[in-house]
Amino acid sequence: MNFRSLFLICTLLAASLPLAAQKPFETPSWTAPFPPFRIAGNLYYVGSEDLASYLIATPDGLILINSSLESSVPLIRQSVETLGFHFKDIKILLISHAHYDHCAGSAKIVQLTGAKYEVMDADVSVIESGGKTDFNYGADPTMRYAAAHVDRILHDGSTVRLGGVVLTAHLTPGHTKGTTTWTLDEPGIAETVNGRPLHAVIIGSPNVNAGYKLVGNKTFPGIAASYKRTFLVLNALPCDIFLGAHGGYFGLTEKYPRWQAGDHDAFIDPAGYKAYVTERRQAFEAELKRQQSAKP
Ligand SMILES: [Zn+2]
Repeated sequence: MNFRSLFLICTLLAASLPLAAQKPFETPSWTAPFPPFRIAGNLYYVGSEDLASYLIATPDGLILINSSLESSVPLIRQSVETLGFHFKDIKILLISHAHYDHCAGSAKIVQLTGAKYEVMDADVSVIESGGKTDFNYGADPTMRYAAAHVDRILHDGSTVRLGGVVLTAHLTPGHTKGTTTWTLDEPGIAETVNGRPLHAVIIGSPNVNAGYKLVGNKTFPGIAASYKRTFLVLNALPCDIFLGAHGGYFGLTEKYPRWQAGDHDAFIDPAGYKAYVTERRQAFEAELKRQQSAKP
């Protein structure tokens, strides 16, 4: 190997390392722009390569799911406008869960649009404290974000309605206390297959993060039972269009080239949804077993 190629390799390695300013979980895919596109009906993708944001267009305005990082806001805005919508028409802001990669941009978006911020009950205090009351990360200042006022507190099964469109909030706790899985299955929001509406599911997160205590957790005593409940809920939801809080959950970067090549059913993946939920449940069960059998 000559000096020149060694230099090139070192440069590439350095470029692939996380920046010092990045937090432990961050990857470049969180901030990499991604083309906005229509998933089905009036449901659009407006997120980055991995931090998923969704836009639902209605005759009475727009609903946005996930504000993502503070630095994501201009990217989301650009995606919304590239699709031909006005950012200021966002009337309702929703999130997948109260972690900064899905909600740090909320205060900015509310300020720019005047959108009503609607959050699941058990995540409200975390949002309104800017992350300080998070059961796992509350004491970590690097996990904080701009606090935002919640205009409407959602509960399990709450519906969000705008312009004839209905979204349903399903409490799927564990990852946070108020992790929310969103479903859209009204006729008109999604296209139909054989005359029936498609069911879209946006998974909030079924993941057990590194360092999560599933046994003897003093700040979230029911955490293991919460995850178990979440997998029951996810298993019971009818799903045609498989989506989630991160593009990685549902294979965004693998499916999008198919969509781009003309396969506009690329995100219809009920088998992929079932397989993902099963794999995540098994990962949770394995981690629970590991923690239960670990010596104190
Ligand atoms: Zn999270």
